Amino acid sequence: MDKKAKLAWLHEKWLRDCACALRETAIQGVPGDGSAEAQVVFIGEAPGAKEDREGRPFVGSAGKFLDEMLADIKLKREDIYITNIVKYRPPNNRDPLPAEIVACAKWLEDEIKLIDPALIVFLGRHAMNHFFPAEKISVAHGKVIIAEKFEKIRRFLPLYHPAAALYNGSLREVLKTDFKKIPEILKTICTI
Ligand code: URA
Repeated sequence: MDKKAKLAWLHEKWLRDCACALRETAIQGVPGDGSAEAQVVFIGEAPGAKEDREGRPFVGSAGKFLDEMLADIKLKREDIYITNIVKYRPPNNRDPLPAEIVACAKWLEDEIKLIDPALIVFLGRHAMNHFFPAEKISVAHGKVIIAEKFEKIRRFLPLYHPAAALYNGSLREVLKTDFKKIPEILKTICTI
């Protein structure tokens, strides 16, 4: 089985077996989406209303902003992989609860281990704090963290969440500046 087929199998398994309590209220599960061969994996928080309806991550206004930033660094959705720490929409888009994050954690771990990207980009504090609980997004944003996770030394880049930056001009500029560091970071990693 190639990586793409393995990823499809993995989502099929977790869509059936995930024990997240949000399955009671969400329309459907929203698995990660994109290339199984991606060098960069983006991790957001949880699906919103549009994602819940369509079954795909980041298809709403935050996703549109993300697509613009990807285009600025000459990347398309098909080149990357994007997922969330929680795969089901929390009611009224409230923050995911610790138990919901725990219930979806093995699904996320399986995605990361299979794709094994050169760089993992956190979109917002929820994604970052799932891996690094002590970090503050206001301090950690735009700086690479190197740490052992899932049996390997991996590289992580925390960014502000595009939804938070959409309606806040100064955060928006910080996010756009941080985002533009991705090609240089990838170049450095891939020549190590
Ligand atoms: N925000 C997220 O964190 N994830 C989505 O899929 C959509 C919006």
